Amino acid sequence: MRQKDAALVCFSGGQDSTTCLFWAKKRFSRVEAVCFTYGQKHSLEIEVARQIAADADVPFQLLDVSLLSQLDTSCSLTNTSVEMDREKPADSYPNTFVPGRNMVFLTFAAILARSKGIFHLVTGVSEADYSGYPDCRDTFVRSLNVTLNLAMDEQFVIHTPLMERDKSEVWELADELGVFDLVRTRTLTCYNGIMAEGCGHCPACKLREEGLRKYLARRQSKRK
Ligand code: ZN
Repeated sequence: MRQKDAALVCFSGGQDSTTCLFWAKKRFSRVEAVCFTYGQKHSLEIEVARQIAADADVPFQLLDVSLLSQLDTSCSLTNTSVEMDREKPADSYPNTFVPGRNMVFLTFAAILARSKGIFHLVTGVSEADYSGYPDCRDTFVRSLNVTLNLAMDEQFVIHTPLMERDKSEVWELADELGVFDLVRTRTLTCYNGIMAEGCGHCPACKLREEGLRKYLARRQSKRK
């Protein structure tokens, strides 16, 4: 049966997708979460995701797409022998880029959602201040949305609540949704697999920390 007011969130237990999970809970009467294992080094993130979903009373499903890590072994998130790029190389993407990842995630999410009668998908991608991954861009998401509709003759709607937000604005949204502390203390964004504030020096931690500092400064100046 079609569930008009239901959404499936692509959920990893990180800052962005956790914020999206609670965004979806405000907006839809029924929310489910799908998490992907794709051969990432840190399996803790799956447990973090499972726990947040359980506490949020959101049904949680784990899909194994670890074939991804076999297809391309140059990625530092899935291959332990590859040292992580700290900066974006001049002529390519950093090796934290997993080619095809968001396309695969959203495609499998759509197939799963359809089987449940759900046609709203939510993903935490943003093109504001990331490494410029091509599959985080609005153009890509819109294009895939059209393709999924054509592929299954359905009317999926992919929601990207963070698309235009930089990290400080993602913190702001979490605060508006009443989950600032939860996101700050219980999520895992760090590429080195450390909870909350993380390792402090990987690109993901730097971005998260910088955004947090910026948001807290803004919040402080508003309260004065
Ligand atoms: Zn880190």
